[in-house]
Amino acid sequence: MVPDINEKDIDAVATVLRSGMLVQGKEVAKLENTVAALSATSCGVAVSNGTASLHLALLAAGIGAGDEVIIPSFSYIATANVVEIAGATPVFIDINADTFNIDVSKIEAAVTSKTKAILPVHEFGLACDITQIMQLALKHKLIVIEDAACALGAEENGKPVGGFGDIGSFSLHPRKNVTSGEGGVIVTNNNIFSDKMKMLRNHGIDPSATDMDFIAPGYNYRLTDFQAALVNSQLERFEQIIVSKQKLADVYFNELLHPLIQLPFVPKEKKHTWQTFHLLLHESVNRNILIEELKKKGVGANYGAQCIPDQSFYCKKYKHNSRTEFPNAFKAYHQGLAIPLYSKLSTDDIYHISKIILQTIERCWKTKKYS
Ligand SMILES: *Cc1c(COP(=O)(O)O)cnc(C)c1O
Repeated sequence: MVPDINEKDIDAVATVLRSGMLVQGKEVAKLENTVAALSATSCGVAVSNGTASLHLALLAAGIGAGDEVIIPSFSYIATANVVEIAGATPVFIDINADTFNIDVSKIEAAVTSKTKAILPVHEFGLACDITQIMQLALKHKLIVIEDAACALGAEENGKPVGGFGDIGSFSLHPRKNVTSGEGGVIVTNNNIFSDKMKMLRNHGIDPSATDMDFIAPGYNYRLTDFQAALVNSQLERFEQIIVSKQKLADVYFNELLHPLIQLPFVPKEKKHTWQTFHLLLHESVNRNILIEELKKKGVGANYGAQCIPDQSFYCKKYKHNSRTEFPNAFKAYHQGLAIPLYSKLSTDDIYHISKIILQTIERCWKTKKYS
């Protein structure tokens, strides 16, 4: 992944450095307004990364010890870690094998008297079935916090993610479509939540008091202004970045037709932002050896996300059998392959990468080296 950074973006950072105003100034305020607008919400709160943003979202929603939070079993590990850090219990749900997003049909059976929230993920930049999740949340009086870390600009039925739930969380890590290096933004329409998140990101200082008053033991989750300037400059061409990734993704769709490859599926009511182009390989392909072979040929590919209940900490604590309880997450973790897709690639690069992927899979399949 090579971030989309040009000379203008670098100049924007230099301008802030020359100004001497380095932390949480007007570039941070501009970023908050831009991300709030992109997610059709009224308030954005910028923080130091996309894990801090999830953490503050949980705290603002009052989630803690004794609470259960429903999450997908296949995501980046941070989705579960923040639930643990807040003192609550993650309840894992399998994913849909076509979209890699939480399987909504399995959520209701997991709701108990302790369930406080659903924390769905818009995995790889594709909106999950968030409208249906909101209906379930309404029925069971649950809070919804969207982990939209990868999905700024993704949509369901023309409405952007982040603004469906009570709180939405975005990451600005270099692996996402736009980046501040490290960074995150939390969005909400709820003033009580946004005030609490602003207070907690800044040592517990009461944001409305004129004299400095500390009303809670807060964190330092602030973002610097030069980081905000970097991403603000990229956001000026945000639509172009998404369109260029869509065009490259379209080339993969044409080039990677192969019986051992399941291509991404985009339901017609969704807009995918292609943070990650994620393939699912047939079980006759040894994915890990394939990754090594591709690396030798200069193609960086890796698994896309973790089957979280299988990671040591979660495995020891909750003792799930992922192969039987979360078969789709298990399969995606073991047979999934994230391949290069970033706006600095050309169409020719995609032809070239596709050819190498197909040749490597084909050769290995025929010689049964991977079976
Ligand atoms: C990237 C990511 C995070 C964490 O964001 P950071 O900015 O790296 O802390 C959380 N959840 C998901 C789904 C992610 O992809």
